[in-house]
Amino acid sequence: MEKLAVLGGTPVRTKPFPSWPIYGEAEERLLLEVLHSGKWGGTGRVKLEALETEFAKLQDAQYAITTANGTIAITLALKAAGVQPGDEIILPPYTFIASATSVLLFGAIPVFVDVEADTLLLNPERIEAAITPRTKAIMAVHIAGCPADMDRINTIATKHGLAVIEDSAQAVGAKWNGVGVGALGTAGTFSFQSSKNINSGEGGMIVTNDRDVADMAWSITNVGRVRAGAWYQHEHIGWNFRMTEFQAAVLLGQMTRLQEQIQHRERNGLLLENLLGQIDGIATMRRDPRVTVHARHLFMFRVTTDVASSVGKEEIIRRLQAEGIPVAAGYVPLHRNAAVLSEIRKLTGAEPSYECPVCEQACANEVLWLHQNVLLAEEDDMRDIAMAVNKVMANLS
Ligand SMILES: *Cc1c(COP(=O)(O)O)cnc(C)c1O
Repeated sequence: MEKLAVLGGTPVRTKPFPSWPIYGEAEERLLLEVLHSGKWGGTGRVKLEALETEFAKLQDAQYAITTANGTIAITLALKAAGVQPGDEIILPPYTFIASATSVLLFGAIPVFVDVEADTLLLNPERIEAAITPRTKAIMAVHIAGCPADMDRINTIATKHGLAVIEDSAQAVGAKWNGVGVGALGTAGTFSFQSSKNINSGEGGMIVTNDRDVADMAWSITNVGRVRAGAWYQHEHIGWNFRMTEFQAAVLLGQMTRLQEQIQHRERNGLLLENLLGQIDGIATMRRDPRVTVHARHLFMFRVTTDVASSVGKEEIIRRLQAEGIPVAAGYVPLHRNAAVLSEIRKLTGAEPSYECPVCEQACANEVLWLHQNVLLAEEDDMRDIAMAVNKVMANLS
């Protein structure tokens, strides 16, 4: 058996994976156009207009509204959909903390419902048990760039008169049944923070097919103004959550490479799933056939042997990293976060308690991540990853 790199053996690879962001002449040219135009803010609206039009088309939505970031995009979408302080929002605990803090930002209450072990997406079977008279919305999080089961979620929401917000921060370009995410529920939100699949440093977007939701989201983002109104005509309580022309310029540049990068990640993702699937004790994520485009923001896979009783997940990560594979541990359970729980306690006056054992097991023992830039490497690099995982799994003790 080959000696592990952590024990002084030769690492499987030392070559780095592609770095992120990727940018070029398009971003340079578009940024300079904004600079020289003198229209830099979110009220001149030249690049912003172009970006919103292009992004709405990308996600098959009628309306798109740019925002300062992906967190505030969720808050604004919830508010525009009519969610009020004290209303309950059902969401999964296997996600970035912003999915919950965007709810807490205006005093709405996150209610955590467990995920499916083989997708890490909100488990539709468990939603109805969590619905109360105070429930106003379901937040589907398309984690890793993989669309959640929007057919089931929409059916449940319709039955109970709930809004559906799609946190699509990781899912730019993803499609469910041939339709872009964000356009499937009441509204969908995106992030353009540095790590995301298109990136302007910071930035966010709301998409929707509902004219009223679009107008309200636009208004709250723009200090309560109305689209065709006068400068000092503030019809709602809103704030300045606008994106700048510079960010829109960078994103228009990033979008010129998006489809090619989606296809590149998909090719390597499928290959890696195939290779890892052949290794004892490793499982890849189940993919519903209705996921017609997977954005592959993260490549997640599971260690299914009982690692808790062997070396443990942290040690597996240390060994894989020593072999030259940049795996990460991923999320910790959001329904156990002390700050989140304390805020919910403050808002409800009651002790929150959630049963999410699948999320806890995934975080503690099972799930490993590779970031999207890793999938932008070449085919041989995927073979290196599989070789390293095979080597580490063959030496589990
Ligand atoms: C990145 C992310 C957000 C927040 O987006 P920001 O632009 O960083 O505010 C929300 N939800 C998920 C799932 C994310 O990955």
